[in-house]
Amino acid sequence: MIPGPDEIIACPHCGSLARRHTLLSGNTFGAHFWTDGKMLAPMLPEFPAITRCAQCVQLYWVEDAQVVGEEQYGEPIPEEWKRAQAVRELTRDEFREALQTGLGNNAERELHLRVHYWWACNDPLREAETAPIPPDYSDWERENFARLLELLDAHAPGERLMMAEIHRETGNFDAALQLIQDTPESHRAWAETLAAHARQGDRVVRQIPYR
Ligand SMILES: [Zn+2]
Repeated sequence: MIPGPDEIIACPHCGSLARRHTLLSGNTFGAHFWTDGKMLAPMLPEFPAITRCAQCVQLYWVEDAQVVGEEQYGEPIPEEWKRAQAVRELTRDEFREALQTGLGNNAERELHLRVHYWWACNDPLREAETAPIPPDYSDWERENFARLLELLDAHAPGERLMMAEIHRETGNFDAALQLIQDTPESHRAWAETLAAHARQGDRVVRQIPYR
């Protein structure tokens, strides 16, 4: 992994500065893949696309923030740049807040927020040290699943498997298995893991084993 220079960005609401890490190159060495489509790759970190300003506490899309400058190695750095904190990932409840306050204002952004809300709900299950217990979903989580099934593209293999995973996690195992049929070779390990757990009547997010 080769990190790039940090960018200094300005909050679109109050103008206070934040720091955005960049990557020149990365790879999936040592990555863990999960049945809900989340990848945890130490050499290819996902930088937040949306964040909360540390000063005015408003949420904003990082791409909407003006880039003030870029820290170059060996060049003098303004004092206020040094104090700029790195943009942070939102929590589960903040992704929900972003959706409820209209930040999912196009299909791509809504999909991003809903997928990350789902992943954040699954994170405690990923980290469980004992056998994870299948969750009881809130109305909000059920609504999120229903909307994701509308937003995800059944013609894209990865998104189709995320749809199958939603069916599995909500106990619609037949619908999950139906969607897994005709999965291309490139997505085979994911599909097989998902199918095996659907056949066992298991609703919990699972890591896709290496082979
Ligand atoms: Zn701000």
